[in-house]
Amino acid sequence: MQKQNILFNLDDTLSYCNRYFNRVIGEFADQMITWFDSITKEEIKQKQLQIDVKAISQHGLKSERFPESFVGTYKYFCDLTGKEKKKDEIQYLRELGFKVFEIPVEPIPHMNETLQRLKEEGHELYLHTGGDQANQSKKIAQLELATYFEHRIFISEHKDTTALSDILKTIKADPKVTWMVGNSLRTDIVPALEKNIQAIYIPAETEWQYNVVEVNVEHTSAFLTLNSLQEVPDAIHKHIQEHAMSTYRLSDRVPAVDRKVSLEK
Ligand SMILES: [Mg+2]
Repeated sequence: MQKQNILFNLDDTLSYCNRYFNRVIGEFADQMITWFDSITKEEIKQKQLQIDVKAISQHGLKSERFPESFVGTYKYFCDLTGKEKKKDEIQYLRELGFKVFEIPVEPIPHMNETLQRLKEEGHELYLHTGGDQANQSKKIAQLELATYFEHRIFISEHKDTTALSDILKTIKADPKVTWMVGNSLRTDIVPALEKNIQAIYIPAETEWQYNVVEVNVEHTSAFLTLNSLQEVPDAIHKHIQEHAMSTYRLSDRVPAVDRKVSLEK
């Protein structure tokens, strides 16, 4: 089988992530309604999301952004309702936000066997994850991902087309045999298609609104949607076989006169 370069995303592609954030956001909303009885949990969650996402464009995917979105939401509703801002409440919320980074992550089902199979088939596996160095490195170590990715690990604070483009240049990847596998339409799929590499989209169990965008990119590369990580090796294998078949058929159909011309060149 022709060797492929396969880039995997980490959060919600190889290991769970959104569920931990949702759990802590739930605790945050539960606490907030004890302080603000005129505001609903839904309003609190919407404001937190808005503040969190807005900060990405300024600060990237740095960890501090998330606890600060709790503090920002608290201050917003204090101003709205006239409630006094209390230092101990702000401190409590900041610590609550940081708790999410202490939760041990669990792998998505079949993570190890999928990566092992692709490795044994001779493909070059890369990891491209968004976030800050300390937190992502901790998860990578905990999941023992160096077994599959060794030093081929890239952590981007701004995970976009520029970041992907830099990685593709660094690894000198031929787009025709390069893939991006991820759960984020915004930060995995759109950049992959903009760079015209193959994209495999695997929707997460629950998705962060930031990751959901319309995919409207002109591309000639393959774009597949799969239900689970486990389906990745067969899908790539099938694509390679079909691609080999169509290339063969195309060369078979070249008229004799054209063959002669190309031979004379
Ligand atoms: Mg992800």
